[in-house]
Amino acid sequence: MASQTGAIVQSSLDALLEDKEFLSNLQNELREQAFTSLAAILSTPNHVHKSFLRVPLENGEVVRIPAFRIQHNNTLGPYKGGIRFHEMVNEEEVTNLAALMTLKNALHEVPFGGGKGGVIINPRKFSEKELLLICQKYVQYFSDVLGPDKDIPAPDVGTGDREMDWMMAEYKSIHPGKPYRGSFTGKSVLNGGSLGRREATGKGVYYTLRYMLYDFLKEQKKWLSDSGNIFAKTALAFEDDPLKIAVQGFGNVGSVAALEAYQCNHLQNKIVAVSDRNVTLYNSDGLDVPALVEYTASNNGDLPVTDEQLIEADVKAEIRDRNDVLYLDVDVMILAALEDVIHNENVEKVKAKIIVEGANAPVTGEADKSLNEKGVIIIPDILANAGGVIVSYFEWLQGRETQFYSEQEVFELLFNKMKSTMNMIFPQYFGDPFPLRQNCYIHAVMKLSTTLYRQGKLY
Ligand code: GLU
Repeated sequence: MASQTGAIVQSSLDALLEDKEFLSNLQNELREQAFTSLAAILSTPNHVHKSFLRVPLENGEVVRIPAFRIQHNNTLGPYKGGIRFHEMVNEEEVTNLAALMTLKNALHEVPFGGGKGGVIINPRKFSEKELLLICQKYVQYFSDVLGPDKDIPAPDVGTGDREMDWMMAEYKSIHPGKPYRGSFTGKSVLNGGSLGRREATGKGVYYTLRYMLYDFLKEQKKWLSDSGNIFAKTALAFEDDPLKIAVQGFGNVGSVAALEAYQCNHLQNKIVAVSDRNVTLYNSDGLDVPALVEYTASNNGDLPVTDEQLIEADVKAEIRDRNDVLYLDVDVMILAALEDVIHNENVEKVKAKIIVEGANAPVTGEADKSLNEKGVIIIPDILANAGGVIVSYFEWLQGRETQFYSEQEVFELLFNKMKSTMNMIFPQYFGDPFPLRQNCYIHAVMKLSTTLYRQGKLY
């Protein structure tokens, strides 16, 4: 497990070992032993599956493409997590992302374990026919270890509903007569997917911010002011002013979060910057987010990069370097691209007071520590971006029942689930000296530890 996740799991276990009320039946040597078992279980994946997919390209060449499925932990249910198509995929990254899924599901009481898949390709360099073959090969190579009650993949960076539809179809052909609807989530609605799944991650990301700065803050204002907590001070500072927000990444997560923020009547937001792999667009008066969403929809997902393209999009903005988005003087920065974007070398340049992690692991351990010391609120990935897997769970349920929920029902269920997690975590966060990430990990590790203990697995 990569350092940041592993280190926080270990410090959560250390805190729980000291808390004598937690697993109070376990004392002295037995307690030490159980905690050593927990550390071993949570720091290593149960299974690492690796293959080289043999794929014939349209030009006649046959390539071998490295692919992974890593199953971290299934204490709480079948393994669950996305499949990433990206050039930078590697075993260590996928292992860490699988562990994050275990923690994310435990935190939100989703009855799944954690897994993750990866294929080392740049999907933009393959034709549609080649991508279909890659998806089919992936399922063929890993078909024994996947399934609705074993391991349920979903989209991640570089994949979407099209890939999940192809993969489910391949699973169905390999296992005729077996239940198949719950074998993949994040499918298209036409093919058994859930309404609202596409928007779920981005909506959830914005919802965590809104819930903290609007609902929770309004209700707990007196208590927050009296608490003297450094993070409570940061939150209270935004009470009446319109929020200046920057969004890094304008894909499925960033664009939906930006649109939610733009349309939110509770907070008077201004989206002053958005970025993608090519560019940052900046406007201190606020960007026209709906116009940008419309533009990207018909331009291969890319934001405008020239003055002519801005005119075409009917958007007023300054064109800046793609990394500028990270260092703007804003209140909130939503990180919705890839991991490790804020690290030791650039953390000093970050001016945002609140960071919301739409992507998985966008802030490194060292950067996280230095931002927390300054009182920056970081709403961590396992709390903020769980909307995707939560609605994946609803999709899996709907597939089993073959009864489908309306979009409104899906979002109500989603927000209620995220709200109950936040109501459990926020009072502690604003009352004690632990960062929000640590608080979330402690809850997730508690859930996993109690279940493992009840199942007699801590020997
Ligand atoms: N890839 C998403 C995540 O990292 C969704 C996973 C899922 O729906 O299973 O949370």
